[in-house]
Amino acid sequence: MSTWYTYEDRLRDHYLAYQLLKRNLRTSFVKEQIKTISQHELKNIHYAIHLHRPPSGQLPIVSTIPSSRESFLYLTVFLSIYQAASQVNTQSQFDVPAILFAWDYFQKTFKEHIAVERPYGKIRPANFNEAWILAQGLRKCEVALKYCPRCRHNYLIIYQSKFLPVCQLCDLEEAKNHGFTNTLTTSK
Ligand SMILES: [Zn+2]
Repeated sequence: MSTWYTYEDRLRDHYLAYQLLKRNLRTSFVKEQIKTISQHELKNIHYAIHLHRPPSGQLPIVSTIPSSRESFLYLTVFLSIYQAASQVNTQSQFDVPAILFAWDYFQKTFKEHIAVERPYGKIRPANFNEAWILAQGLRKCEVALKYCPRCRHNYLIIYQSKFLPVCQLCDLEEAKNHGFTNTLTTSK
């Protein structure tokens, strides 16, 4: 049984698809949000915008996003912007307009430092796909923002990652005071 979509539905979906594909979101993520456009057509739109085929292969997963403990600081900033921009409860709903806003703002703030521009950097999310799955992780309870009473900042936990579920800001500070350098050396 086919569902009837109005012209306005299709127009709205095309505009959203353009917004998402312009930021290089994987077409399978886009398809989850778009009912009226086929996966094949989404790939064609991606090609029309970027003049190359969309990437295929494994989708990124949230537990492997942070490259170092410093990455958590930036991920916390990103998620805080997302939560502040959202009009809904981001732990129960995924807010696409808020993630578009948060990513654009984050990217503008850390222009030329994020990995899209400079590979292997510590600033994460490094691209819109990472931002996307991170925001989805909030709703799926894969990640959480907690309040640290010690430094009075929010900190991020990624439950399945290799990093301990602690405030990374305080942990980094402590490591610095004790002269640990294993994860603190600045890579060029
Ligand atoms: Zn702290």
